Amino acid sequence: MSLLRRVSAAVLVAAMFGWLSTLAPHDGVLRLTAAQNKAPAAGSEAPRAGSETPGTGDGASAAESEAPKPKPPPDCTKVKCVALTFDDGPTESTRELLDVLAARDVKATFFLVGRNVEKHPELVRREHREGHELAGHSFTHADLGKSSKKKITSELSRTQDAIRRATGATPDLMRPPYGSTSKQLVKLAREMGMAQVMWTVDPLDWRNRDSDAVERRVVKSVKPGSIVLLHDIHRTTVRAVPGIIDELKAEGYEFVTASELFGGKLTPGKEYRELESGDGQGHP
Ligand SMILES: [Zn+2]
Repeated sequence: MSLLRRVSAAVLVAAMFGWLSTLAPHDGVLRLTAAQNKAPAAGSEAPRAGSETPGTGDGASAAESEAPKPKPPPDCTKVKCVALTFDDGPTESTRELLDVLAARDVKATFFLVGRNVEKHPELVRREHREGHELAGHSFTHADLGKSSKKKITSELSRTQDAIRRATGATPDLMRPPYGSTSKQLVKLAREMGMAQVMWTVDPLDWRNRDSDAVERRVVKSVKPGSIVLLHDIHRTTVRAVPGIIDELKAEGYEFVTASELFGGKLTPGKEYRELESGDGQGHP
């Protein structure tokens, strides 16, 4: 079946991309205070966002007025931080995830697919209102590393526009689907004021729809400064999150957004994979 072959090929390419870039990070990869961390797990990305039912598109824009009082983020060069990131949403299962995160007072980063933002603007507003960080992940889950300048520009700007329409906020970071990047993408992202944020821990949750396995892999692999790649479009992943949070909290981790992990400000055009926290800052 040709569709199946195409999907398999895409997964293979995605896995190779993650693997290659893990072994040989290219220029511009920002690693702060090298030394403490080991080689990151081989990365790969979910095939693509599933199709969802259209959202309600209600016009509420009272996000700011209900914002909880913000807690100052920790200094991740001094304490153990981890950033949970969720790609490909929002979709129905995102509601359950937001409940889990709210109950545990954990902030995460959502790498949003623009067309899903248009289907579920109310979920994007809720993410924003509850203090999570919003980021782009292309409009159609396109392979941006292989796309033309025109296509990249369209994918990035349509997603930015959709998020801005839903929340009033404009993201300053993005993650290319499959981790597939290019010099052209870096340049265009910089011109649009966006940094690229990749990941260090990938439990392959899109392939292994087993909550216990996802939880175990994440908890085992996280180091101070890790960025964890998850997908809120899978309920099995959402159901792994309570255990991930509870276990890592018990180990003393603080949960931060991607920007907070790097001190609150990302540089447009830079690529971020992890913060190797603690080194030279009092941690052994
Ligand atoms: Zn994705």
